[in-house]
Formats: sequence, C-alpha cells, structure tokens
Amino acid sequence: MKKITIAEMAKYNGQTVKLGAWIANKRSSGKIAFLQLRDGSGFVQGVVVKAEVGDELFATAKALTQETSVYVTGEVKEDTRSAFGYELAVTDVEVIHEAKDFPITPKEHGTEFLMDNRHLWLRSRRQHAIMKIRNEIIRATYEFFNDNGFVKVDPPILTGSSPEGTSELFATKYFDEDAYLSQSGQLYMEAAAMALGKVFSFGPTFRAEKSKTRRHLIEFWMIEPEMAFIEHAESLEVQEQYVSHIVQAVLTNCKLELERLERDVSKLEKIKAPFPRVSYDDAIKWLNDNGFDDIKWGEDFGAPHETALAESYDMPIFITHYPIGIKPFYMQPHPERDDVVLCADMIAPEGYGEIIGGSERIHDYELMKQRIKEHNLDEEAYAWYLDLSKYGAVPHSGFGLGLERTVAWISGVEHIRESIPFPRLLNRLYP
Ligand code: ATP
Ligand code: MG
Ligand code: MG
Ligand code: MG
Repeated sequence: MKKITIAEMAKYNGQTVKLGAWIANKRSSGKIAFLQLRDGSGFVQGVVVKAEVGDELFATAKALTQETSVYVTGEVKEDTRSAFGYELAVTDVEVIHEAKDFPITPKEHGTEFLMDNRHLWLRSRRQHAIMKIRNEIIRATYEFFNDNGFVKVDPPILTGSSPEGTSELFATKYFDEDAYLSQSGQLYMEAAAMALGKVFSFGPTFRAEKSKTRRHLIEFWMIEPEMAFIEHAESLEVQEQYVSHIVQAVLTNCKLELERLERDVSKLEKIKAPFPRVSYDDAIKWLNDNGFDDIKWGEDFGAPHETALAESYDMPIFITHYPIGIKPFYMQPHPERDDVVLCADMIAPEGYGEIIGGSERIHDYELMKQRIKEHNLDEEAYAWYLDLSKYGAVPHSGFGLGLERTVAWISGVEHIRESIPFPRLLNRLYP
C-alpha cells in the first residue's frame, strides 16, 4: 500500500493509502470517531466507524490523545463540506508514540505561555498557515528576481563596518578584532551590482532594537535588491511590481491558509502596481492638517503617523523624498534641493507600517567622502566602499524589504512575532 502525504491525497481519490500523522484533535461518540490528522503537509479528517472497524480498533482510536503519532490506513474520499475537499475513511490505526498531556490544548492560552512553548505552538493550524505563507513569499521572491534577470548574491553576516553607525549593532569578537552582526547587506550588494548588474540578497539581519513594538524583531530577514544604472523612479517601479507579484502568488497558492487565518482577501485582491506616491512634504502637511501636532518637518514618522497616512489608500503607498537629516549617509541628494534625498519608504495598508526602505545611492566620489565624514564614520573602514564611486561609478538604486513585516501584513496577523518560526524579541532568546 502506498504511503503518501495529506497534500497528495487528491491524486489518490478512491484508493486505500497510508499516512504518517499526528492527532491534532479528536471528537467521538459511541459509534464514530473523528480524528483531525496533520502531517506537516496539511490537515485532514479521518473518520473511524465502529461498525466497520470493530470494537478493538475503535477503542484504540477513541483513546488517541492530542499529538500522538500514528500510521493510519484508509480510503481517500471526497468531502465537499470541508475546504480541503477530502477525508480518510479509516480502516487501521497504528500508534507510533503516545503523547501525554500536550500543553497546548484547543482552549485559549495567553501569549507568553504560547511564546514559551513556541517549539510546540508551531504545530497549530494557525502557525502552520503563517509558515506556509512565509514560504510562498520566499518562493515568489526568488521567482520574481530570477525572472527579471537578477543574480542572488550573499553578503557577509560578520562585518567590520556597518552602513548606519553602531548604535543598534550587535558587537562580537572576530579573533582579536571587533566585529558586528550585519544589520543590512546593502554596501556589499552595491559592490555586487557593479560586478553583476542586478542582484538581490535574502538573509538574516540583526538589530539591537531597544523598543518593544509589534513591528520590530531583533533578528529578521531582509530581501535586498541592488541595481546598476537604475535611478530612483525606476526603482519604485521594480518595488511595486515585486510586491504585487508576491501578493498575487499568495492569493493563488495559499487559498486554504488565507481562509484558515480568516484573512480578508478582498483587501489583498486590490493590490496591483502602480502604488500611489506621496512626498514627505505633503505627508507632513497632511498630518499637521489632520490633528497630528506631534510631528514637524525634519522628523521621522512614528507608527501612528505611518498608519494614518496609509489609511486613506487601499494600496501600499510610497512616501518619497525624506529630509537628508533622518536618512543614512549614502542616499543621493535631490538634484534641485539639498534638504531632501532620492528615497522612498513603502508603507503597507491596514496599519502594518514600513515594509520597504529604499533609495538611489550616491555615485560621486567627493560627495560620498564628504558624507562619510559628516556622519563621523571611520573613513578607513569605508575605503573599500569608496572604491565603488572611484572606478566606473554609475547611478544605482536599491531597497530592503523586511520579510516578517510583509508576512504579517499579507497573513493579517497583528504581531510580527508570529511571522518567524523562532522570534528573537527584546526579552526573549528562548526557545
Ligand atoms: P522602522 O522605521 O520601522 O524602524 P527602518 O527604517 O529602521 O524601519 P530599514 O533600515 O529601512 O528599517 O530596513 C528595511 C526594512 O526592514 C524595513 O522597511 C522593514 O520592513 C524591515 N525592518 C527594519 N527593522 C526591522 C525590525 N526590527 N524587525 C523587523 N523588520 C524590520
Ligand atoms: Mg528602525
Ligand atoms: Mg523607517
Ligand atoms: Mg527605513
């Protein structure tokens, strides 16, 4: 008999198959038991009818506890009442390991308890759905960039210098030298773009963020494309096409997961390039005119500002041309204004905040040197980076998309901690 996974069941309609599975939940009466089976690939209901399997097997099925592992044999049957579409008419159950007192029961648990048990919480339907959506976003990311002529490049994680100063950096030792965990691979990706034209990275980044928000992790994953000969406005087009692509991919390939999360898909269905562009100047003016007197020109937005600005759109928006003083040293100044730079943040709808930060980069050697000095960065450590504007400098742009923010938004989960398997938070390094 064929051993298959739940995800493969549709191909075996009417046939008897064997599944390796865990008991996610169970309901039973004197005559019939409903086993909620999960095997990682999906969830399906197994039906055990006493009159058909006999007293002994029925007693075994009735006694199954949550998270007990089993081999179940049965016939695949169409089941039009379930979203999955199939069920298993069970003919045999073989217990592999009996789980006793699984701590996460179907009743409600507090967040701290669930976080302490993250290694077990991951088995839930909800977490399963989020992880599958995360995986689909990663898959669609590779698809988009590969289809558009980008080369994947992996920047280092241990670094000697960092793009944005050292305040949020994790310091470590590199033998006798000081080293830092990467908080962005951008500078290396710029070097890679000068070698390979269009490049993207996907890797972990680390920030010692001291603030406790629902949008910040200490360790998160970033996708960082960098493109030679691409100017600011052209980069925005790549960004909106990329984000539209991943949203469409999730809508197409994660229907069951979105349903399980009760995601309002009508909101996602509207996401299509182009996205609105709003200048920082106009954004500040709009905020001040609409009751936000806690922010003035020259300051960065807080979460409530970003939420309010995005609220009147059903699309992600770009906020463009931020003041030079609140952005990193490498951003290209506006050709007609010296107080703003050629940059944009993409703000997701529904209160999820900034998902992308991007800009055109300076490619003038003297200006880059001056900006490094103004930011009190160690010129020696940036000598290699300065070489990029010394030998065949070209206009180039890039951006960084935070994977977990994007997963949270597309999945519709409120807190970023659920969008990564093992979140690192201000007060949490375990499990
Ligand atoms: P924020 O303003 O929300 O703190 P940022 O401007 O510091 O973000 P960038 O340096 O522009 O972030 O990083 C690029 C992207 O990485 C952000 O747009 C966001 O999607 C993501 N990101 C930044 N910091 C975090 C974090 N601590 N946890 C999760 N994702 C993050
Ligand atoms: Mg930040
Ligand atoms: Mg920001
Ligand atoms: Mg940013």
